[in-house]
Amino acid sequence: MEMSLTLSAVESLPPQLSDLRAEVRAFLDHEVAEGRFVPESDAWLSGIDLDFSRRLADQGWVGMTIPTRYGGAGRSDLERYVVTEELLAAGAPVAAHWIADRQMGPGILRNGTEEQKITYLPGIARGERYFGIGMSEPDAGSDLAAIRTRARETADGWRITGTKLWTSGAHIATNMVLLARTAPSDDRHGGLSQFLVDLPHPDVHIKPIITIDGGHHFNEVVFDDALLPGTALLGKRGDGWRQVTQELGNERSGPERILSTLPLLRAWARTDTVRTDPSARAVLGALVSRMAVLRQLSMSVAQELAGGRNPTVEAAMVKDLGTVFEGDVVEAIRAHADVEPDPGGDEFSSLLAKSILHTPAFTLRGGTNEVLRSIVAKAVL
Ligand SMILES: Cc1cc2nc3c(=O)[nH]c(=O)nc-3n(C[C@H](O)[C@H](O)[C@H](O)COP(=O)(O)OP(=O)(O)OC[C@H]3O[C@@H](n4cnc5c(N)ncnc54)[C@H](O)[C@@H]3O)c2cc1C
Repeated sequence: MEMSLTLSAVESLPPQLSDLRAEVRAFLDHEVAEGRFVPESDAWLSGIDLDFSRRLADQGWVGMTIPTRYGGAGRSDLERYVVTEELLAAGAPVAAHWIADRQMGPGILRNGTEEQKITYLPGIARGERYFGIGMSEPDAGSDLAAIRTRARETADGWRITGTKLWTSGAHIATNMVLLARTAPSDDRHGGLSQFLVDLPHPDVHIKPIITIDGGHHFNEVVFDDALLPGTALLGKRGDGWRQVTQELGNERSGPERILSTLPLLRAWARTDTVRTDPSARAVLGALVSRMAVLRQLSMSVAQELAGGRNPTVEAAMVKDLGTVFEGDVVEAIRAHADVEPDPGGDEFSSLLAKSILHTPAFTLRGGTNEVLRSIVAKAVL
């Protein structure tokens, strides 16, 4: 008996969404059959393929929840959730548009001016606008409020000076959302503001940082007295901390914090080891049931976000539990697989090798798990 693992095995969404799920799955199967992409773990952050992003947008599956008057599909958060899950399960190369779709569409809708909405949202929905997140700095990661990048208001606009680090996708991004200090403040969370930066920019210098697997997906970004127009301010001056915290709700709780390694789990489920070894099947069963519980958690946070609430603590919990699970999938398969991980090997051993090399990042990006646990602990106390 060959085991095959699809998300409907743990389906709990309303049945009317299964048509959409089937449509997305058929599209992705066709893409794979045509050799347009090879399923990879963690492709939501490192699988950059601009053509794929545009093809997906042509289907109406990028910027799905953006209202139609701004070029989006005006569909529900639950519909977007289903599409997102299928993309992750297929290991599709969605990294180029991921941040724009996940948090900048909602962020601009929430905080942007009408002009910013008209400028940025249609391009996001066409799969042609790609955003980098300019939060972390060399001395400000977990302690984000310690950022030193400054934005100075002048007669011509805003002058930005500072360095951002680990900026995923900045090298292909058309835009960056930047957190900078606009005023000194006794309150560490005060005096921060967000900006929309159009790239490329003559005074914004983007330098690659190569990861352990030889990949290039993140960067150092240096702002050298870069001039932004006055209209680049996103939301209210001084309100950056609140806006960023809201964005982190979108950033931390989605299915990509649970399903980064699902392509590996699915590939393993089809191997001879799982077919013939009852103990491997028991491991698979335990992982799948854990995934089902985590999906329920993630979906309830998605519903809170869709209702306009700000479930910071719940989102932190999803990310902590979900990213540990993603790594446990890799470790369990590594222990039970009967092949050696090899980046140049056959499809499965290369998928395993790449998943191993990506695992250290799961619990770091988007806020480390230690820090997330302290958010949860403070809320509980
Ligand atoms: C793959 C990847 C992609 C990323 N993409 C982006 C991006 O696009 N944009 C962006 O802005 N950033 C990005 N980041 C940066 C990420 O958000 C930071 O790495 C993360 O917030 C941790 O910051 P740091 O690296 O400075 O580590 P530090 O903050 O220096 O932490 C070092 C260690 O100390 C621990 N620690 C720190 N403070 C505490 C505390 N108070 N209590 C307990 N333990 C603590 C941490 O848990 C960690 O283990 C990315 C990171 C990765 C790995």
